[in-house]
Amino acid sequence: MEKLIPDIDAIDFKDVDQDSRRKFLKLALSGATTMLLVYTPGVTAFLGRGRGWKQMSTEHQYAYVIDINKCIGWGGCVRACKQENQVPDDVFRTWVERYVITEDGGVYVDSPDGGLKGFPALGEEVRAKAVRSFFVPKMCNHCENPPCVQVCPVGATFKSPEGFVLIDHEHCIGCAYCVQACPYSARFINPDIGKSDKCTWCYHRVKHGKLPACVEACPTGARKFGDLLDPNSEVTKIFKGNKWAVLKPDMFTSPTCFYVSLPHEVV
Ligand code: SF4
Repeated sequence: MEKLIPDIDAIDFKDVDQDSRRKFLKLALSGATTMLLVYTPGVTAFLGRGRGWKQMSTEHQYAYVIDINKCIGWGGCVRACKQENQVPDDVFRTWVERYVITEDGGVYVDSPDGGLKGFPALGEEVRAKAVRSFFVPKMCNHCENPPCVQVCPVGATFKSPEGFVLIDHEHCIGCAYCVQACPYSARFINPDIGKSDKCTWCYHRVKHGKLPACVEACPTGARKFGDLLDPNSEVTKIFKGNKWAVLKPDMFTSPTCFYVSLPHEVV
């Protein structure tokens, strides 16, 4: 199969741990840890980036672009994600919300089963007042400044140089601080493993040159994923050729999921 996205190095947690420990020891011997150790959050952040992560090339900067005009609320993306990532019932790595704007300025939002089976017809009362409606796919925004990473007390979650926010499940203790910290409700405690979970942008697929499962499943092309540092990638062209917005910009998380034609009612 033709590669859609360039390969990125695989994470090798075992090797990384050794590398990180060696680096940390070297730093400790140099005396540079004094400053880190008196500032606990700094230590957490440092360990978080070191543990479970091998410094990879920064030749890629992945991003997600969603065109609200193209989403039909079919739910194939939610189903594909569930299947690809063995997401348990009642929790979601990605979901779709339906927004209905009513003539009196009301905003009605629903997401039955995360949009897994599509959306039922609107109730008579809402439909009578509806002036427009649209669907909004949501997931982890793989923020540039992820509060979930900042609060993790054991450094189990981290941001890769390519833009993925990932979780090292070997080290996650399931404390759920990150679940509380995420302003987008993108994280949950996976009931099967008792640890934090969320969208990985299908890292396991992308590193082998494939698209995330939800992107592949979308019949309308509403979901796009790719490398913003590649001038020829579809996401770069859409990103440069359209006005885009991010969710909750006032949170200063700098999301890397960009929305085209995002109505102002969306929260
Ligand atoms: Fe973390 Fe939430 Fe941002 Fe994802 S959307 S990186 S879980 S803060």
